[in-house]
Amino acid sequence: MSRYSRRELLKTIGMGTVGAFAMPLKLMASAGIKKKKHFITLSFDDGFRKSSIRTAEIYEKYKLAACINVIATAHLPEFELPNEYHNWPAGDFGLWNKLQDRGHEIMMHGYKHAHKNEIPFAEGKNLILKCMDYFSKNLKGFKPKESIFNFPFNASTPQLEEWLPTQVKAFRTGGPPINALPHKGQSKLTCTSFGPGNIENHLDQEIEKLLKMPSGWLIYNTHGLDEEGWGPMSSNYLDQLLRRLKGINTVEIIPAGKALAAA
Ligand SMILES: [Zn+2]
Repeated sequence: MSRYSRRELLKTIGMGTVGAFAMPLKLMASAGIKKKKHFITLSFDDGFRKSSIRTAEIYEKYKLAACINVIATAHLPEFELPNEYHNWPAGDFGLWNKLQDRGHEIMMHGYKHAHKNEIPFAEGKNLILKCMDYFSKNLKGFKPKESIFNFPFNASTPQLEEWLPTQVKAFRTGGPPINALPHKGQSKLTCTSFGPGNIENHLDQEIEKLLKMPSGWLIYNTHGLDEEGWGPMSSNYLDQLLRRLKGINTVEIIPAGKALAAA
């Protein structure tokens, strides 16, 4: 709150002469977010069971919410692995609801992880609608218009990009990893990723680039922890990274949906 005089702060939150200490915690949190200049979203894809549980635990250690994007049908026996980088058990919606209850963000990463650049528009659209429907039925409180669709392989098409904002709040696809700070009407989020080997050096470099800029929102597409998935990082690295970033006062570590909701 240091940037605001007491009078400005009271004016901002419309509380007149009521003491600032009466401000609800939630408002204090969002007043804090608005001052941050470097937003960082580690956008974890594919929903491996073991990695997702560990990721959530590490985020909780620092009182942070993880951003976990899951495939609607990956937990079903008939799920066909899109490639060898999916060959680990996926979580199911029992787990996703539990993690969401603990404050983490669970968003869409496709109905079956199709490469939407390689299929006709109508088929891609149908798969996204089926994904939204599955989430609506299985994830508590899921609202498509507040959700983010995270393209499998970060592969979108201009036609799908034009249609999706009529269905969801935003979508994530491949592109420059540093986005404008979260703002109203921001429906296209772009990210980078690295793989199939360990991502740690690459991610460190992307974070350094962000921190050298006056402001920006780094969206980095991560996957599993330790040995799981394409382009993994170690759990120890994630733990140390969050510890380091928490110590930088311009940095906000936040899931994409929460960032846009607060914008
Ligand atoms: Zn994926």
